[in-house]
Amino acid sequence: RGPDPSVELVRARMSGVKKKLFVLSGKGGVGKSTFANLLARSLAARSPDKNVALLDIDICGPSQPRMMGALNEQVHQSGSGWCPVYVEENLALMSIGFLLGSPDDAVIWRGPKKNNMIKQFLSEVDWGDSLDYLILDTPPGTSDEHLSATSYLVSRTPGEDDGARAILITTPAEVSIADVRREATFCKRVGLKVVGVVENMATFVCPHCKVTSEIFPRDSGGGEKLSEEMELPFLGSVPLDPILARACDEGQDVLNTMADSPTLLAISSIVDRI
Ligand code: ADP
Repeated sequence: RGPDPSVELVRARMSGVKKKLFVLSGKGGVGKSTFANLLARSLAARSPDKNVALLDIDICGPSQPRMMGALNEQVHQSGSGWCPVYVEENLALMSIGFLLGSPDDAVIWRGPKKNNMIKQFLSEVDWGDSLDYLILDTPPGTSDEHLSATSYLVSRTPGEDDGARAILITTPAEVSIADVRREATFCKRVGLKVVGVVENMATFVCPHCKVTSEIFPRDSGGGEKLSEEMELPFLGSVPLDPILARACDEGQDVLNTMADSPTLLAISSIVDRI
């Protein structure tokens, strides 16, 4: 077989993308999409002159159209490819959710169909002139979508900086942490560098008195201990905050809704380290 021409198309489209940030988690429901959303919004808000895109490849559970308040938006195809939805002037969103007739459609997709979709997303979405950050919100675990996206975005040439990085999200629960270990092993295997680990929902912010309480016993060590064990940087901890849950569920701009809150400060210090 000759070389796959679509690889060249992906390469051409991705050549102007400086950083490709994979947001990964072993389990569903640990806050991966929430963090991907916060990261995209924060990076775009910090630098109006930088272009940020969020690509939602969570085929069986695309959350970003809802979280970005773009549930009723549609994407269109033009001569230069698919036009993403612009949430802000410098924040573009593309989601499998925009293309599915019904959310049930994707559940029965097999590997090759998923691979094809990812290839199309990476080669046919017109992100504009150049992208500083492409953030990928992925399904939980390490499945077809991860293999496919990393096969296109992670360079196999030793020493070449492909700009691809992973951020691992976990809760402090032992089950979630075991999955992150697998996730880290996956990254090592495919040559994807890990920026670090973000712990989510280890503490709780009371909406009434605003006091932060610990939910899990500290002696379990949580994300920090896991990072140490795996020799990965610990990027920080995002508290369980009902205001954050509501803001994401209603597609509000979290940065405005939660301005100056301890939760947003925690998120901001994590973004500083990415
Ligand atoms: P995943 O992408 O890992 O499946 P989500 O980001 O969709 O997880 O989060 C699952 C649910 O938990 C969502 O309803 C989300 O709003 C909520 N959630 C996630 N992180 C937090 C947090 N730090 N505080 C409050 N709610 C959160």
